Amino acid sequence: SMKRKFFVGGNWKCNGSMHSIKELCEALNAGERLESSAVEVMVAPPALYASYARSLLRDDFAVGLQNCWIGKPGAFTGEIAADMIRDAGFPYVILGHSERRHIPELRENDQTVARKTRYAIEQGLAVVLCIGELLEERQAGKTREVNERQLNAVKEVLSDEDWRRVVIAYEPVWAIGTGQVATVEQAEQAHAEIRSWLEKQVGSTAAAETRILYGGSVTADNCDELAKQPDVDGFLVGGASLKPAFLDIVRSHK
Ligand code: PEP
Repeated sequence: SMKRKFFVGGNWKCNGSMHSIKELCEALNAGERLESSAVEVMVAPPALYASYARSLLRDDFAVGLQNCWIGKPGAFTGEIAADMIRDAGFPYVILGHSERRHIPELRENDQTVARKTRYAIEQGLAVVLCIGELLEERQAGKTREVNERQLNAVKEVLSDEDWRRVVIAYEPVWAIGTGQVATVEQAEQAHAEIRSWLEKQVGSTAAAETRILYGGSVTADNCDELAKQPDVDGFLVGGASLKPAFLDIVRSHK
């Protein structure tokens, strides 16, 4: 079977300053070089600081953005187009993060996330596509249904080939920033369900090759057990990506 390269993403969200980002990049650079055959690591700073972080970090760290505009550049004040992310040399964009889906002032729906994903891939970016259920949806037994609804919207607009540019991040909303990490059983079950959706809806190559990351209160203390699960191919990390201990999470692939 195809071995999926472990992927660890750090989502810095709307955090940091020139000072703190310099310190964090220096701390990350102080770790051992990342074996490119074993693990892929991306950090996503606030857009304003992305070039600064890129200039500071070793080249074995990838830098990505946290969001982009839905389509072509133009009269969209305050937005950043995928074309620009690519042109400026950033290979990744995170799309569909739960904060963008659920914060009332943002409220991106499944179709918005799908159109962004399609356009970003057309521009040559790779996409970390976030999906996941709310607490009330889990409690109502709807986890699988919600994940599949969010994935189906993206499937509508992508070719089977396009999935090679997608990394899926399963991020149960109740686990994000709450300190309440999913159990290994909860994570593995959702990941296996997502992989079986890929098998049925996209194909066996996509099922075998697509990385499915877990995100939600991952720390250096809980990552090793999760990393051992057969369908957990890495992590998307929020809070713990702002500290040097992010490197311990990167090392969990071993
Ligand atoms: C995230 O926002 O993608 C995330 C997983 O956050 P945290 O690790 O802080 O729960």
